[in-house]
Amino acid sequence: MNSGSKGGRGERAFYNRCMSDTPRHFIQQIIDADIASGKWGVVGDPTVVRTRFPPEPNGFLHIGHTKAICLSYGLAREYDGAFNLRFDDTNPAMEEQAFVDSIKHDLLWLGANWHAPDDGGAHGGGLFYASDIFDKMYEWALLLVRHGKAYVCELSAAEVSERRGSPSKPATSPWRDRPTEESLRLIEEMRDGKHADGSMTLRAKIDLASPNFNLRDPVMYRILRKPHHNTGDTWCIYPMYDWAHGLEDSVEGITHSLCTLEFEDHRPLYDWYIRAINEALKVDGKPAIHHAQQIEFAKLKPTYVVLSKRNMRAMVEDGVVDGWDDPRFPTIAGIRRRGYTPEAIWAFNTSVGITKFNALHDITLLENALREDLNERAPRRMVVLDPLKVTITNWGEHGDAGRLEDLEAVNNPEDASAGKRTVKFGKTIYIEREDFMEDAPRKFFRLKPGGEVRLRYAYWITCHEVIKDGDGNIVELKCTYDPQTRGGDSPPPDAEGNVRKVKGTLHWVSADDCLDVEVRLFDRLFTVEEPGKATGNFLDDLNPDSLTVLTGCKAESSLQSALVDEPVWGDGIRRYQFERQGYFCVEQEGASLVFNRAVGLKDSWGKNAARG
Ligand code: ATP
Ligand code: MG
Repeated sequence: MNSGSKGGRGERAFYNRCMSDTPRHFIQQIIDADIASGKWGVVGDPTVVRTRFPPEPNGFLHIGHTKAICLSYGLAREYDGAFNLRFDDTNPAMEEQAFVDSIKHDLLWLGANWHAPDDGGAHGGGLFYASDIFDKMYEWALLLVRHGKAYVCELSAAEVSERRGSPSKPATSPWRDRPTEESLRLIEEMRDGKHADGSMTLRAKIDLASPNFNLRDPVMYRILRKPHHNTGDTWCIYPMYDWAHGLEDSVEGITHSLCTLEFEDHRPLYDWYIRAINEALKVDGKPAIHHAQQIEFAKLKPTYVVLSKRNMRAMVEDGVVDGWDDPRFPTIAGIRRRGYTPEAIWAFNTSVGITKFNALHDITLLENALREDLNERAPRRMVVLDPLKVTITNWGEHGDAGRLEDLEAVNNPEDASAGKRTVKFGKTIYIEREDFMEDAPRKFFRLKPGGEVRLRYAYWITCHEVIKDGDGNIVELKCTYDPQTRGGDSPPPDAEGNVRKVKGTLHWVSADDCLDVEVRLFDRLFTVEEPGKATGNFLDDLNPDSLTVLTGCKAESSLQSALVDEPVWGDGIRRYQFERQGYFCVEQEGASLVFNRAVGLKDSWGKNAARG
């Protein structure tokens, strides 16, 4: 599979620049101190920093996850450590192979390659599944039961929650002091399928009065007859996330287990589990297991999006969006289809930084990161989204009206090495309908009757006649061109030394050398910064105009396929700047080309807001 971050003109330079010059965040400072004290080893030793990204395969990854990925992978790379991809697949009810596949694809696209170095991943530690160590987890559970640190409880889920107590009132369970032998027999029976789903659980014997409710004898195992995407029907009991998580970190030798703030209150439980196992192992005369250090950081929460997987799943299932990879959806798959680059996502995450404070992040930071990246790298092309026909009446006056003239166009003014291409000019061209105004105000510098404008890379034209259909719609303009303005240059001064000037420059395409293409314009899926905050239901804040499909757009013919000298995008997706329109990527290749608009040239939302 393509790693997505290899090669590409300017790619590495861009990447390095966005990674440097940022102050060291608190997790880097912790790791620096760990290295100074030799806590996990010395630099160069792959165990010095071993991180992981632990998704539950119950949906597609979203932009929030990119923060966790960039952080954990970025640290493994920075300290020459190792990065694991681990599927936290402890809940067979919600998990699917399709999600596993999409998550792998997204990570490779982002450049977070978990493959070991001999398998192409420079900082990879490997691929892990929680379900691969179900056996080990079960053995440790038995160990805790044997040492009186866990018991089988016959309360139903509803009863457990009824008896959970309050901050001032401890929880209760009538089964807490059942004999060890009985719990041992029952847990084995649970595993062997001798008890009904939900009829009993294994619980850790910690502290029913703890102010931290996570420590009030949490459930470790439940009975659930559901086939698992990895283990099939080998198991009918499944570990709870909190029991499993620290054990996974332990088995993989994770040094810095990085997660979001909502797990802060779970850390004492993870620590308790590992300590309890190690105390029991010590009594049994066995070596201790690895204990990872968990560090929490604030989630990424961009404006104008809904990121909860549960809500996202509902939007997919209810058809609010057109699948998990809808380009309006903030999934990695969605924004990739939209035209986002991995580099822009890295730059955005770098700019957001790593802190312990939950905050709302302005989505325009993400959009600007993309503009900045594509401004440097995207080849320019001309595409007319809403075409208006223009006939150049003095073209071929001497009998060669069918002639097409080759003109040179600059591919990327930001990158001289991107070179030039040829565009063809002729008798009939298209301009953007909104670039002409019949009754134009004085400050309208585009085309108007009697007015003159520059056609980019071509000629200056003057409008002489407006043709309308029976309903009064403008269907064509008749213009003349000035042969002395070839390439868009100013004409020489007249006899009195006056120089003619124009203020407007329009993009255009030749009617005899163009492609009919479809263009999809996307707007934000929601109209407010925090969907659902005021209305109570995020669906009430949906933007009804988030998708506009334009057909019959006219594109210069060079867009049919990538030109030889176009930069190579690491992921094979073609991206362009359509002059004066924004940044676009190819959604569909072939006879009928379709483009998606990734982002406009300017922040139009900010502009509208400023206008009031
Ligand atoms: P949900 O809680 O809706 O099921 P989740 O996004 O927490 O979904 P996980 O698969 O558990 O799903 O997430 C994997 C990792 O990504 C976790 O370590 C989590 O801390 C991290 N993560 C999730 N959302 C964000 C976010 N918005 N910003 C940063 N990290 C996140
Ligand atoms: Mg989660």
